[in-house]
Amino acid sequence: MSRRLALLLTLVAAPTFAAEPERPRLVVLVVFDQMRGDYLEKWKPLFGSEGFVRMQTEGAWFTNCHYQYAYTVTGPGHASMLTGCGPDVHGIIGNTWYDRASGAVVNCSESDRYGRVPPLPKDLPKDEVKEEVKAKEATEKKDPDAEEEKKDDPEKKAPAPKKANGTPDRLLAPTFADALKSATGGKGKAIGLSFKDRSAVLPVGPKADGAYWLDSTDGLIVTSTYFRDTAHPWVAELNKSRIADRWFEKDWSRFVPDLDYVRYSGPDDVAGEGRGSRQGRTFPHRTDGGLKRPGKAYYEALYNSPYGNDFLLELVKTAIVAEKLGQHDVPDLLAVSFSSNDIVGHTWGPDSQEVLDVTLRSDRLMADFLRFLDETVGKGKYLICLTADHGICPIPEVSAKRGLEAKRLSATQVRVAADEYLRSVYDEPGSKTRWIENATGPWWYLNHKLIESRGLKVADVADTLAGFLGKVDGVQRAFTRADLEVEMDPYDDIGHRVKKSYHPDRCGDVAVVLKPYWFDGNPKFGTGTTHGSPYAYDTHVPLLVFGPNVKPGVRKDEVVPATIASIFAKALGIAPPAKAEYSVPEGLFRD
Ligand SMILES: [Zn+2]
Repeated sequence: MSRRLALLLTLVAAPTFAAEPERPRLVVLVVFDQMRGDYLEKWKPLFGSEGFVRMQTEGAWFTNCHYQYAYTVTGPGHASMLTGCGPDVHGIIGNTWYDRASGAVVNCSESDRYGRVPPLPKDLPKDEVKEEVKAKEATEKKDPDAEEEKKDDPEKKAPAPKKANGTPDRLLAPTFADALKSATGGKGKAIGLSFKDRSAVLPVGPKADGAYWLDSTDGLIVTSTYFRDTAHPWVAELNKSRIADRWFEKDWSRFVPDLDYVRYSGPDDVAGEGRGSRQGRTFPHRTDGGLKRPGKAYYEALYNSPYGNDFLLELVKTAIVAEKLGQHDVPDLLAVSFSSNDIVGHTWGPDSQEVLDVTLRSDRLMADFLRFLDETVGKGKYLICLTADHGICPIPEVSAKRGLEAKRLSATQVRVAADEYLRSVYDEPGSKTRWIENATGPWWYLNHKLIESRGLKVADVADTLAGFLGKVDGVQRAFTRADLEVEMDPYDDIGHRVKKSYHPDRCGDVAVVLKPYWFDGNPKFGTGTTHGSPYAYDTHVPLLVFGPNVKPGVRKDEVVPATIASIFAKALGIAPPAKAEYSVPEGLFRD
């Protein structure tokens, strides 16, 4: 070939190469636990320009992103994002469920088969409460009903189980980390980081190079022997510096003192709000757990304050630098889940000044994180998907003020009544038989051995139980397995969602869905709120996609967070994980 021809070919080939889409070096999943879909809209005027707003304007902002299943809690949410499927496929039906084989409630991401890394010291010093806190607590009223309930509940009387540690081995679908590993010959790294184990472990799954969380027993960043036998040196270093102790006795006050918090979130002191880990109902909140020196109650207060997110960002930055994420020859995955938004929301409710405050701080934290990524990985060289694992229900006292029927319903009391009803149908008077073996989350597990020994059919007893539960005040619907195993009426929205939450090997015989704004709790003394329903306040979450080649703009089309698995795969030009069900939203990328 003449030199001229070679040069010509190079010139011809060059534009083709240039037209290849620019691939990110790092894909980042950012989860703000419990950040409801409406927060990014209603508080947008209060954000700075470099955090959420930068992603909302320079990236694609999906305002209509909803979970498609009914039981909207942390484990299923985190398991869905990077597997690309729902609990009916990935099998993480709840944070916990009842395992018939072992006769125990199991945790979605923990097992006592694995040890903690680093190991838990045998003789930890006891928490010592400050004298003034002790004196104050001695005068406070106790909740007699909570003690009564514990006596009634057979599960709560069981001895404390052996310490369990993080593992993804209950996850039944591969994650995006598996896809990345097979596309890069194992060279692309996958790291999962969070305050809680399930949120660190489930997004990345079994192939993770590292999954770390904080153990509030002693305030150390830990992993489990499932992943490694020793912690990465950069984790050991942070632990040596006692990084989690840095916020001890740092009171939590309002982030923007001159902002009218009442205008955006109502008054600070509202009936039904909780007090956290000795943090009180109103600002400023103490961050010492009432202790003389850092201990469990302090780490719980850290978790239940915006400082838990600040701690996590330190860990995230350290991981990016030490592991050179997005800075070597193949792309990497980083999954980060900020947990403090969740526990703050549980304690003070979505309409509280505390949730507004932690969201404003999350915006500034995101600005800091983006700046850091620009500097270390490079502008335009990383792609972020930001979402949440579920939303949150308003505090019943707040809903009631808005004229809504809203209550805490004691599942323990309903269970006692349901067992009594089943005895009235199937037993002689005075019998003490237990027909319900377990009730965890929305799932009710019947005592199969008993049913068989009586020559009855489980499906018939399930029908009887569902008939009873469906009539309990506060219950919207009760489904049997038979209801969920047939085709659903296309207009039955709740039915479809429960079906999507249903995994036959793990679910019980009856599923219960409460009425909107109702949830399981102590009706007399309960505080705070929760999530886990099929209603919009729990299913609606943000989805922001920010990175090279993403077409910016507000998108109103319906999407699910599980689409992220396909978005990451498309961005890197690799195959999505094997069980991913949702494709990339049309027109998301420029090419
Ligand atoms: Zn959560």
